[in-house]
Amino acid sequence: MPRKRAGAVHLKSKAEIEAIGRCGAIIGALFAEIAPRIVPGVTTAELDRFVDTFIRSHKGAVPAFKGLYGFPGSACISINEEVVHGIPSRRALHEGDIVSVDVGVKRRGWCADSAFTFPVGEIRDEARHILAVTRDALDMAVAAARPGNHVGDIGAAVVETVRDTGLAIIRDLVGHGVGREIHEEPQVSNIGEPGFGVPLREGMVLAIEPMLARGTERIATLEDRWTVISADRSLSAHFEHTVAVTASGPAVLTAGGIWDAAGPGPGTGEDPDRSGFPLDNAGATARYP
Ligand code: MG
Ligand code: MG
Repeated sequence: MPRKRAGAVHLKSKAEIEAIGRCGAIIGALFAEIAPRIVPGVTTAELDRFVDTFIRSHKGAVPAFKGLYGFPGSACISINEEVVHGIPSRRALHEGDIVSVDVGVKRRGWCADSAFTFPVGEIRDEARHILAVTRDALDMAVAAARPGNHVGDIGAAVVETVRDTGLAIIRDLVGHGVGREIHEEPQVSNIGEPGFGVPLREGMVLAIEPMLARGTERIATLEDRWTVISADRSLSAHFEHTVAVTASGPAVLTAGGIWDAAGPGPGTGEDPDRSGFPLDNAGATARYP
């Protein structure tokens, strides 16, 4: 979730998308494994160690965030008002928290990137609401990632999903292309207009990652120079998939058990067209529509 910038877009072959999908499947499986470990009392450093060990248990796979721009952890773990880039620490989770776990995997020269915001024990209705809407915004944004659309259609889907929910879209952080590097072009803003921006073409691989807050859309960075919070310290949530744009529609490369188990968010009440989604790729091989 880099800050805004510009450059060239690299298209990927089917074999390259499969290689990215193998990275993505590791993250999908990781989230299913880590979910029962996200409980009151566990520290974010303990979760980070689990992430690191799980990723490295897959031959050739390494945590892509470790050392990226100098980041010290293997996962970004962000609690409550923290939006992204939380540094794993001795801080323990509490009942009622929501915690975003954002993970990159690099294997054999290819990367995938995904984030999931988990509830810690029983959470309040307002927390449940922001999780559901953010999740729904991701689903709708993914559904817009098809040839013939533009990057603006992805942001427009987020805007449309979040409209009338009372939640704010964090606009100073964006999704991005993924491939040889975790962060490639194009930027994928969570604000957009249909038909505007970079045209989506077969072979693009994008990290789509809506970030919402209950209060202001503005963000601030803590003194650790990493952790990004909502400027008013309101609750925030973040969900992210790595998605390939294919001839027959979006192919989610970071799906797996937790995404299916958690179910779609209630949000708009509309069901995105899931016909092209290979949702079950937890078996470490990407599938295509
Ligand atoms: Mg990302
Ligand atoms: Mg990420």
